[in-house]
Amino acid sequence: MSKRRCSHEKTFDLSGKGGTGKTTLASSLIKLSKTKAYADCDVDAPNLHLIMTEETEPINSDYYGLPAAYIEPKKCTSCDLCRQNCRFNAIDIIDAIYTVNEFACEGCKVCQLVCPAEAITMLDRVTGKLSLYKNEHVFSTAELKMGTGNSGLLVTEVKKNLYMNAKDTELAIIDGSPGIGCPVIASISGIDLVILVAEPTISGFSDMERIIETSKGFPAQLAVCVNKYDLHTEHTEKIKQYCQDNNIAFIGTIPFDADAPRLVNQGKTLIDKEGPAKKAIESIYEKSLDILDKMN
Ligand code: SF4
Ligand code: SF4
Repeated sequence: MSKRRCSHEKTFDLSGKGGTGKTTLASSLIKLSKTKAYADCDVDAPNLHLIMTEETEPINSDYYGLPAAYIEPKKCTSCDLCRQNCRFNAIDIIDAIYTVNEFACEGCKVCQLVCPAEAITMLDRVTGKLSLYKNEHVFSTAELKMGTGNSGLLVTEVKKNLYMNAKDTELAIIDGSPGIGCPVIASISGIDLVILVAEPTISGFSDMERIIETSKGFPAQLAVCVNKYDLHTEHTEKIKQYCQDNNIAFIGTIPFDADAPRLVNQGKTLIDKEGPAKKAIESIYEKSLDILDKMN
């Protein structure tokens, strides 16, 4: 297939709830487009690196999230004010010693403000790891440590890392965060085209509606496609109709391919195999480029 070129840098974000095939489509579009810049913003459970295997080791750096409170036992007078004022129930008394549970602490500093003994300090903490692969292309990814929050901030760092290291690329593709929360908002922010990957189920329809609502707050163009559409064609038709009624671009359907898990396990994508799924993804890519072209 021919690839039309955009006159300046554009970005795709693949959105959808977990398990819809978002990463499968993202990796396929990355291979099809031969883009030199891509990122995995699913920082809670990144897996794009399992498909887009890299020849070199990544450059890793620590990610510092919000600081956590620390109570100096020698200064603490056990007045209990910090525990009473912590809205996140992050302060416990363990063996008569006031202790902060760093997994529950949100770093709000209220305990520090109310402590009459100045026994509380805020300590920086490593809450994740950023990884940057720099070959003939740039791949930015990250992983949040289990039990730590604020993944939205880490998503922003992943994108920053990508843009800073791949300044002159014409197209960047981002495997977005699943769901509708803060990481999704960070993922969509500044993107030109959000491709929402829906699944033909009742919950898939309702998830799609919620993500569309979230996306409406952003200037990004929105397009919808359905993965494994033939597993329930009635739901697929319902999604199509919804897009038509709401003036949202519907850019295609991808048929179920029982071979997909095997391909993924081999570090391959659906476009590495001839067949209906590959054709469908090529068409989705073309339609995505059409939308970007019209934006220029
Ligand atoms: S910083 Fe906030 S969340 Fe953390 S322990 Fe203090 S009051 Fe609780
Ligand atoms: S407010 Fe300060 S002195 Fe009081 S229990 Fe907490 S750490 Fe100890």
